[in-house]
Amino acid sequence: MSAELYKNPALKTAQPALIPLAGLGRVELAQALEDFGIAPKQIRMRSKQIFHWIYNYGVTDWDAMTNITKDLRVKLAETFSLKRPEILDKQVSVDGTRKYLIRMAPGIEVESVFIPAVSKTGALCVSSQVGCTLTCKFCHTGTQRLVRNLTAAEIALQVMVARDDLDEWPSSSGERKMTNIVFMGMGEPLYNMNEVAKAIDIICDCEGLSFGRRRITLSTSGVVPEIVNAGEKTSAMLAISLHAANDELRSEIMPINKKYPLKALMEACRAYPGLSNSRRITFEYVMLKDINDSPRHAKELINLLRGIPAKVNLIPFNPWPGSPYECSDWETIESFADQVNAAGYASPIRTPRGRDILAACGQLRSESEKLRASERRKLEKQHLENVETT
Ligand code: SAH
Ligand code: SF4
Repeated sequence: MSAELYKNPALKTAQPALIPLAGLGRVELAQALEDFGIAPKQIRMRSKQIFHWIYNYGVTDWDAMTNITKDLRVKLAETFSLKRPEILDKQVSVDGTRKYLIRMAPGIEVESVFIPAVSKTGALCVSSQVGCTLTCKFCHTGTQRLVRNLTAAEIALQVMVARDDLDEWPSSSGERKMTNIVFMGMGEPLYNMNEVAKAIDIICDCEGLSFGRRRITLSTSGVVPEIVNAGEKTSAMLAISLHAANDELRSEIMPINKKYPLKALMEACRAYPGLSNSRRITFEYVMLKDINDSPRHAKELINLLRGIPAKVNLIPFNPWPGSPYECSDWETIESFADQVNAAGYASPIRTPRGRDILAACGQLRSESEKLRASERRKLEKQHLENVETT
């Protein structure tokens, strides 16, 4: 038997289910190969090869790994899986937006949304948690309790699933559609910083998925103590979900502001590593009718941002069933944008994308929950009937 094959054949029989490798970082991958019995001298080379096949070529079949001997490939295939998690639901909008609901594990359902390019950049919006501990009033995810943090693998897998679906592995021809990754799906990435940072390392590894760090954006509701740390750990771009430029209103719509008010938030922004005119912070501002959309609010926003390299993303509010707000009128949004723009801040209005499929962030998962709830009720009823007849 070759030295790099099993030293411990018992390992194989002790683990009936295949161990998933897709989504693992370099260290975990090397560890898995070591546990499998690859000889120490070969670990570096083998994990480098396999990492490259998994993340650069996106292979899901061991037989594609032509620089690994057939014998070893067969043995690896008996222990490890390269499979992706299951896509429970995929919706494609008329404008090309694609929304995926992915089952990472039983009860762990995750949303990601691919928003195609208007210009040259197309972004995948990934989730960092299932649910959220915060309760921003305009956000549908905020109505869902936190189930758990996602692992780095589960975050990286969202990118891989989208690459599969868009057919964007090296073998595909033509320009890449997915150029940017934004942490704007479910959850607060700065409350899951370790796994998010590990996922960014995987996504940006130049022998793998190869995204540039400036093409990754972390969006936060304002977890002040983690902001500088997040920049140091990831070198990613920063987006702040601002939505109001005075403490009273911001605390009303985003309760986290009571803990970390605007003064502290702006100080953390000013200290963000690498901040400059070519690396500006994006301030997201959701337009809520008669709540935060008047010329006075625009003036407050301009004053607040003074001195910070910033751009403002104006987001038309995306209503969801039971949401307490309405979206501002189009003319109101436009004059708000003009006012902010005149003060020297780029302030594009984000075109609502995928409205026909989206409704709002967090929606797909809740639809599936509803389904399960009704299924559950049906089962409970059946169970009760069974109990009654026995
Ligand atoms: N928790 C992080 C990232 C996820 S939310 C954060 O709050 O930044 C991603 C973005 O979607 C945030 O800017 C959030 O404010 C925005 N958002 C949430 N619900 C929305 C809705 N119904 N309409 C428009 N934007 C929404
Ligand atoms: Fe959580 Fe962000 Fe939604 Fe606020 S806006 S509830 S932080 S996901």
